[in-house]
Amino acid sequence: MKIRLFASPIVAAFFVLNCWAQNAPASTPPPNSFLDRLTSLTDSDSRPWTAEQFATMGRIRDAAMTDPNAYNMLAHLTDNIGPRLSGSLQAQAAVEWVAAKMRAMGTSVTLEKTTVPHWVRGKEDAVLTRWPGMPPGTMQKIVVTALGNSAPTSEDGLTANVMVVGSFAELRSLPVGEVKGKIVLFNKPFDKELTAQGFGLDAYGQNLAYRGVGPSFGGSLGAAAVLVRSLGGGDFRLPHTGLTLYGEGVDKVPAAAITAEDADLLARLSKQGPVTMRLTLTPKTLPPTSSYNVIADWKGSEHSEEVVLVSGHLDSWDLGTGAIDDGAGIAISMQTIHLLQSLNIHPKRTIRFVAWMNEEFGVSGATTYLQEHSSELTYHVAALESDLGCDHPTGLSFFGAPEAARYLAPVANALAPIGASVLTRSDEVTAEDIAGMVQLGVPGLSPSQDSRFYFSYHHSAADTLDKVNVQQLNENAAVMAVTAYALADASEAIPRRK
Ligand SMILES: [Zn+2]
Repeated sequence: MKIRLFASPIVAAFFVLNCWAQNAPASTPPPNSFLDRLTSLTDSDSRPWTAEQFATMGRIRDAAMTDPNAYNMLAHLTDNIGPRLSGSLQAQAAVEWVAAKMRAMGTSVTLEKTTVPHWVRGKEDAVLTRWPGMPPGTMQKIVVTALGNSAPTSEDGLTANVMVVGSFAELRSLPVGEVKGKIVLFNKPFDKELTAQGFGLDAYGQNLAYRGVGPSFGGSLGAAAVLVRSLGGGDFRLPHTGLTLYGEGVDKVPAAAITAEDADLLARLSKQGPVTMRLTLTPKTLPPTSSYNVIADWKGSEHSEEVVLVSGHLDSWDLGTGAIDDGAGIAISMQTIHLLQSLNIHPKRTIRFVAWMNEEFGVSGATTYLQEHSSELTYHVAALESDLGCDHPTGLSFFGAPEAARYLAPVANALAPIGASVLTRSDEVTAEDIAGMVQLGVPGLSPSQDSRFYFSYHHSAADTLDKVNVQQLNENAAVMAVTAYALADASEAIPRRK
């Protein structure tokens, strides 16, 4: 029960104040004492929101929980438009649909042009043609998917022995020439225990380098192709794709992810003797093309030049329909504007919705935004992005000044009825599109989503609408909308990092 009591900073402050009063000496406390700081938490005049504004936060939160619009928008984006890989026709259709929806909500819409890579998945197939104990004349299928940006094999594939390693260090320690011509598999298991305890992003971060630069590293040592064990915690023999990057001057070797189950199989078999694989990947890299960030402003009533940005990324991988990554972030950010419109709320500052293009293939939309708006960043009061799915949010994660915790405490309090009152400060931005802005001093925020299940589906064919729980999606919309409103209507802005 004590934990519940202290979950609310205001209740905690009263509790401590009462204890203090009982034991206080009869002298005047010194200025800036602990008591002053606690009192300031409970003193409405010293906070940047009035009672009326708190009531508005409650109205936005409650409306978010019952409004079906966020889910309906997400359903259209995923079921009707479908996968939205950068450069694809579907990504372009998504840009046009989002722009039209935002215009209909009464915002002022700009399409911001950005150049995106255009990579198209081809045939992908992997079979074992030789392994210890194989019945003569048989083959064994390995479930594989090309990594984004992968170079192709020939149409007929390449056949080579598989070499399984657990780390970069292990590969580097092998005798020179040992790797040459092999299909290297980086087999570092995804930490399911960490994920089960809510640290999914940390588990992902621990293995990300193998997908990101493993193929380049293997290529530099002469590997014929590089496979990575999928980054994901599910047990459904699903391969998870994602971007890989090639270093300058390094041979671009074909790169793919195989399932965790198949990685284990290869590890077991290769301990018994040589294992040979035929790997066929025929993706195409087409010339870069133009696409767009969709920017939609809900104009501020007093300081329209000051901006609170709400966002998600509109592009997705091509295997599923990008429901949790990141159709959900788009839907809950669009819903912020929809709620303001339907409740007729016009905060002092502008709330700017941004649908980022091309987070997955190199964050080019966000890079373009930084270039185009560099002189306006001092007027960017805060930037919000949701890009960790839409399971239950426990509160807000913020990136920036430590003092922002005290500032945000009343907002967290307004989110307590939906179980989203925990404030977490982090130095590392978990939402890629706002990371550049945060580095330049703009306070960044994200809903703190439950990440226990996200990485079971992330970047796989199972990232589809059925993974979305409507109530939890609405909780995320409430966190986004209440926070954006609070930051945009406050009498003073959230503290910036000094
Ligand atoms: Zn994402």
